[in-house]
Amino acid sequence: MPTGDPPLTLAELRTIPLERLKGVGPALEARLAEMELLNVLDLLQHYPRRWIDRTKKTDIAALAVGEEATVFAEVRTIHGRRTRQGRALVEAVVHDGTSMLTITFFNQAWREKQLSPGTEASFFGKLDVYRGKRQMTNPVVDVVGRAGVTDEKTGVIVPVYPQSGKAEVFTWQLRAMVADALAKCRLRGFADPLSESILDRRDLIDRGTALRAIHRPESMAELDAAKRRLIFDEFLRMQVGLVARKRAFEAEQSGIRHRVDGLLVDAFLARLPFTLTDDQRGALAEIARDLAGAAPMHRLLQGDVGSGKTVVALAALLMAVQGGYQGAFMAPTEVLAEQHYLGSLRMVDGLTVPADGSLLADRPVGVALLTNRTTAAERRRITAGLEARQIDILVGTHALLYGDAQFSRLGLAVVDEQHRFGVEQRALLRGKGDQPDVLVMTATPIPRTAAMLVYGDLDKSELRELPPGRTPVETRLVEPSPLAQAAAWEALRAEVGAGHQAYVVCPLVEDKGKVEAKAATAEFERLQAEELHGLRVGLLHGQMPSKEKEAVMRTFREGALDVLVATTVIEVGVDVPNATVMVVEDADRFGLSQLHQLRGRVGRGGDRSFCFLFADPTTEDGEQRLAAMAASTDGFALAEIDLEIRGSGEVFGERQSGFSDLKLGRIPRDEETVVAARSVAEELLDDDPDLGSHAQLRDEVHDLLGDAVDFLFKS
Ligand code: ADP
Ligand code: MG
Repeated sequence: MPTGDPPLTLAELRTIPLERLKGVGPALEARLAEMELLNVLDLLQHYPRRWIDRTKKTDIAALAVGEEATVFAEVRTIHGRRTRQGRALVEAVVHDGTSMLTITFFNQAWREKQLSPGTEASFFGKLDVYRGKRQMTNPVVDVVGRAGVTDEKTGVIVPVYPQSGKAEVFTWQLRAMVADALAKCRLRGFADPLSESILDRRDLIDRGTALRAIHRPESMAELDAAKRRLIFDEFLRMQVGLVARKRAFEAEQSGIRHRVDGLLVDAFLARLPFTLTDDQRGALAEIARDLAGAAPMHRLLQGDVGSGKTVVALAALLMAVQGGYQGAFMAPTEVLAEQHYLGSLRMVDGLTVPADGSLLADRPVGVALLTNRTTAAERRRITAGLEARQIDILVGTHALLYGDAQFSRLGLAVVDEQHRFGVEQRALLRGKGDQPDVLVMTATPIPRTAAMLVYGDLDKSELRELPPGRTPVETRLVEPSPLAQAAAWEALRAEVGAGHQAYVVCPLVEDKGKVEAKAATAEFERLQAEELHGLRVGLLHGQMPSKEKEAVMRTFREGALDVLVATTVIEVGVDVPNATVMVVEDADRFGLSQLHQLRGRVGRGGDRSFCFLFADPTTEDGEQRLAAMAASTDGFALAEIDLEIRGSGEVFGERQSGFSDLKLGRIPRDEETVVAARSVAEELLDDDPDLGSHAQLRDEVHDLLGDAVDFLFKS
């Protein structure tokens, strides 16, 4: 690499194969490829998993019995054998220049191979004494240096790389390759997409320093600065993409200018048995403004369970309908689609619109349901109805996107979602009409920062207050004792005795689908014979044919069943205000947000409601999470706690756009960084809307988001 060339960009680093590095031959290259390390960029972004601070080490000679400490030592001897009980036992003797120490591993036979004599490693554990000998049992081990290799100079802080598993690439090999890569890049240096003035203002170090320091930090302070910079970059790329997309939406002038004031919506609102809450009114006003505007709406309607999103959605759909457009209303499950369908039918009952081509004749507002299970004949009827403009609102599952539903004038799509509706689906939807407006509703409250990542390209309306007259659900933890559980079942029977209804949520089954259905069926039969004996009990699970599901839901809704035993299929949206009690079995196995959604199925009428969480509080995190559930009915607070405990990958799924691109960044921990990145993204795009003079950043964003931002960079 000749000098005088400009500094290296990420794109250039990606073109440099790993074989250019010292000691990397075809065999190692193949093993690296197994770890998805294909080029120098991959390698430099393969960040250490941990960093060991050698200054924090303790001399073996100075260690006191019972003390926890890290020692750095070289393995002198190591032997494996079996105990009389047949357990694998590996004993190593290590030396750190001050003293010897025996290390004992139980059930870790592989240590014998890992820690061959001469290997240098750190051992973290508690010093104890066994038969008069000082030793550590099952310490945490990080291999630092290879036997017989003395030329690797590691600094005071030693990086430890993620274990490669079967690929067998060792941490010292990665360290050597990274060192070589950094050395070879030094002449040209690393290009920085951010100007010095931004770095200054945001107190960030330059990229080159950060890339070096994350792998070979000279101090813990330098390491922290490196992490901050690299995390900032991760979030900045996402935010630039999201903000740019949001602005492109806003700049689009080809949307439908809906006529939002009219008799239809007025009649709808006037006929509701309640008045809208202030939040509902506010959200509807924001939606109306978007609908009337020339830019297609991309809005998120966020609100806790039971906050009344459905009414707002229907009012919005009618705004489109009164101008002669059609609306799509999509739900994540069939049960919910069916319910939205019935709810919509009920709420528009008696409302009319002018019949096509006639100023004088009116016809009823047309609502239809389309799911995967809709019969061919019904499908044909729907197709004809859409074409003839007799169907105004088509309700369905997300299948509506992929199916053959041909709207003649799709004006607004409402998407009731559960973290399942991505950018691609939104694009598909736009393909169904000219430029339909899109309203996304989330049933699960999303913490603010997470929303900034997942929905950073959407405008937001929020329903914070619940409709009046609700009493918070009383939540009780029920210990796994027959007495405590009997009391809960007694309470359930008492509610049923008073004319109310109940849900029993079956335990989650690891291997979903058929197994879960079987478990639910067994539990249903058991409960019917025992705790729920004599009550009218129904069963609902995901594997049932759609017709049966609908039939059971209908029976329950009509009050002909007392108790519904169900899997998590009832998680979203099921709305039966007469249900006042819920029992969740094995509650410790559910995520917090999921429990909150489930609990939201009761407490929907004016009556006092109860939720009994059967749980063994001794499980990991279980106690903390369940205590939070019992203490709070605020979905937002619970979502924050859930995110804190489980991490974004678990909560949103690895594949949720954006999160899989985070290597170092984590929310909610890095909330401040997300906010800062958002504001820098906005600043940059204010001055330079197509990033014409920030080519490097633009390329990095494009690289990350691909097709999703293609349209931004056509020029
Ligand atoms: P969400 O979809 O946000 O969970 P829903 O739209 O299903 O909530 O509303 C929950 C219940 O509250 C429904 O039975 C609905 O009819 C009722 N509801 C909605 N808005 C109001 C309001 N402003 N006042 C009283 N009840 C309302
Ligand atoms: Mg519009």
